[in-house]
Amino acid sequence: MSQMLHSLYPLMLSPIKVGAHTLPNRVIMGSLHTRLENEPDGVHRLAEFYAARARGGVGLIITGGVSPNFEGRVEQGAWVLDSAEQLKQHIPIVQAVHEAGAKIVLQILHTGIYAKHDEIIGPSAVRSVINPRQPRAFTVDQIEQTIEDFVTCAVLAQQARYDGIEVMGSEGYLMTQFTALRTNKRDDEWGGSLENRIRFPVEVVRRTRERVGPGLLLMYRISAIDLVDGGLTGDEIDRLAQALEQAGADVLNTGIGWHESVVPTIATSVPRAAFAFAAARLKTVVKIPVVASNRINMPSVAEEILERGEADMVSLARAFLADPDFVVKAATGRTDEINTCIGCNQACLDHIFTDRIASCLVNPQACHETEFTAPAPQKTLKVAVVGAGPAGLACAITAAERGHQVHLFEASGEVGGQLNLARRIPGKEQEFAELVRYFKKRLSTTGVNVHLKQRVDASMLASQGFERVVIATGIKPRTPTIAGIEHAKVVSYSDVILGRVQVGERVAIIGTGGIGHDVAELLTTAHEGTQTTQQFLKAWGVDPSISSAGGLQASVAEDSQRKVVMLQRGTKKPGARLGKSTGWIHRSKLTKRGVTAVAGCTYDKIDDQGLHYSVNGEPHVLDVDTIVLCAGQDSEQGLASELTGAVSHVDLIGGARVATELDAMRAIDEGTRLAFAW
Ligand code: FAD
Ligand code: NAP
Ligand code: SF4
Repeated sequence: MSQMLHSLYPLMLSPIKVGAHTLPNRVIMGSLHTRLENEPDGVHRLAEFYAARARGGVGLIITGGVSPNFEGRVEQGAWVLDSAEQLKQHIPIVQAVHEAGAKIVLQILHTGIYAKHDEIIGPSAVRSVINPRQPRAFTVDQIEQTIEDFVTCAVLAQQARYDGIEVMGSEGYLMTQFTALRTNKRDDEWGGSLENRIRFPVEVVRRTRERVGPGLLLMYRISAIDLVDGGLTGDEIDRLAQALEQAGADVLNTGIGWHESVVPTIATSVPRAAFAFAAARLKTVVKIPVVASNRINMPSVAEEILERGEADMVSLARAFLADPDFVVKAATGRTDEINTCIGCNQACLDHIFTDRIASCLVNPQACHETEFTAPAPQKTLKVAVVGAGPAGLACAITAAERGHQVHLFEASGEVGGQLNLARRIPGKEQEFAELVRYFKKRLSTTGVNVHLKQRVDASMLASQGFERVVIATGIKPRTPTIAGIEHAKVVSYSDVILGRVQVGERVAIIGTGGIGHDVAELLTTAHEGTQTTQQFLKAWGVDPSISSAGGLQASVAEDSQRKVVMLQRGTKKPGARLGKSTGWIHRSKLTKRGVTAVAGCTYDKIDDQGLHYSVNGEPHVLDVDTIVLCAGQDSEQGLASELTGAVSHVDLIGGARVATELDAMRAIDEGTRLAFAW
């Protein structure tokens, strides 16, 4: 039986020998910075976090980056491993993973000029465009000492019984800062020629191998394409890869782009496996196994990369935040139960960038495993959940899984709520549809009684003996008070997204929030359906042959037939509240398509001429065919007020509770946590 199921993903689930180790499958959990190490009970929480993934069948886990010395740490409080005293932070984590049946590798990360503290240092005193801090340049002695620190860190990892180490050599961190002319301006033996620039990473690998012997798995995460001006060419990357192999690396993991690249590499709109070509190139120049990474979020994507021979293994990081059981589900014929990473970055990267603990929009238990350990309830409750948006769905499936008898009522004919609008936005189609697919499957496996096309009212709920009623009725779009708002030119965002109205060529969008940006994207996208990898690479100026430095070429502007203007009343930069790691992508795409934005507006009136508004008292008219309202939302709480006194336990979650700053992340989190409280 298990043989037959393995045949679904025969390559992904086949063992592989790497260095002195054999892994049970070809799926690696890539390094993720969680910020759990900053918490008082961080070691315990990290052990639980990794152990859950190990139980879920992943063959090899790579830890979040740990610095080999004080200067290299990511930020204040981040872990350094430079003395035996610190092993107590690592041993329980390694033990937990080993007990759960997986191998674990420590990632050694020196951030160089990306460090978020004052001890910042790099190959040259060149400031990064994404870090306001001015670095000092290494002296030659400091370079020698830093190499020694990497070696010491690897030896300590061996003492903690890690199965290996991964030298972080991508994403623009220290190794890449040495290899690229962009950041390495030295004229000694550590700068200038390629041989000199790659000396630092190669020496780290060579001296580490010498010291740790053949038993410790030695991985190097190479920047397979830099995606920055002044980065390496493909030929230079090949030469680095070969030198690392010669120096003793067992595996080449790959990283794509630097943090300061202006090409999206992991967001939802990046086609799945779009950068596998960069791993494929390396595979032709070295004999050691090569790992593909970036936007690999389903087993079929992994299997196809391996089938095409583009890599020997695949690395998935965020996919393991979304679902710790990714591998075991794939191996047991339950792929449709996988909670798929949708590439949103909202709870992982955006949390890290704003100094919060990472988690996952689709799985709020990620990095919070220790908060979801409530024992199964003593009593089965009869629960009504009203509204099948993400809040209601998360609540219903979690409550049913915990043993309650759950009825989910949805007014429309399908589950998903606003996710069904989100999945009509270009770039979001595939992943938001996966999220709805996941919820649908879980409704059936957990035995939730789903009642579609049932707009429930208070009397119905009161008459059916529910012991808990959850109001997850979401929001209603806000209609601003503007003279002429009822004009035929004015349409709602939902009607536009659902294609219920004709939109002209000259458009004003009132509101510049997430939905305003998504609507602008929808109205200016030229291509039909999800962008292909080729279209994506072309649009963002990526040269798949990597013949130029950094693998960049001129981007091809996507023309729009429509002239779109977005407006807001606030005076901050429009779109400033979009996600830290993805907002720039939206803004950059729309700018390329000629979409403009106006801040500080007062809306005066709407008439046949168009939209009349003033900025600083100066009147303007936008002569437009269509005005789309994306002016935020208000809670849909009517049912909750009707229920007052009629039913005892009533809870509100998601948009129904508070509409302001609502997103799917909060909705799912609130639904899940409420069900754990019973
Ligand atoms: P909703 O999703 O609004 O669901 C409420 C449900 O209740 C609806 O299905 C409704 O039909 C039902 N209902 C209402 N009244 C009744 C009743 N009386 N009886 C029965 N059923 C009832 N968020 C993100 O985090 N990331 C994104 O990228 C993102 N993109 C978006 C793109 C678009 C175009 C839109 C519109 C939204 C996007 N959002 C995004 C926002 C996100 O979808 C919402 O925050 C989320 O869906 C709110 O969840 P909810 O369950 O509270 O409410
Ligand atoms: P939003 O982010 O709150 O933006 C609402 C916009 O409407 C603002 O630009 C606001 O600007 C304007 N506005 C508010 N009240 C108004 C009024 N009375 N008259 C005129 N304009 C008004 O809400 P949203 O765009 O509707 O998005 C809803 C939620 O979905 C958000 O929380 C968002 O995070 C989430 N979402 C996320 C994504 C994503 O990609 N992560 C995508 C879509 C949606 P002024 O007040 O300055 O005029
Ligand atoms: Fe993936 Fe979004 Fe979860 Fe991050 S928050 S792991 S991108 S689904």
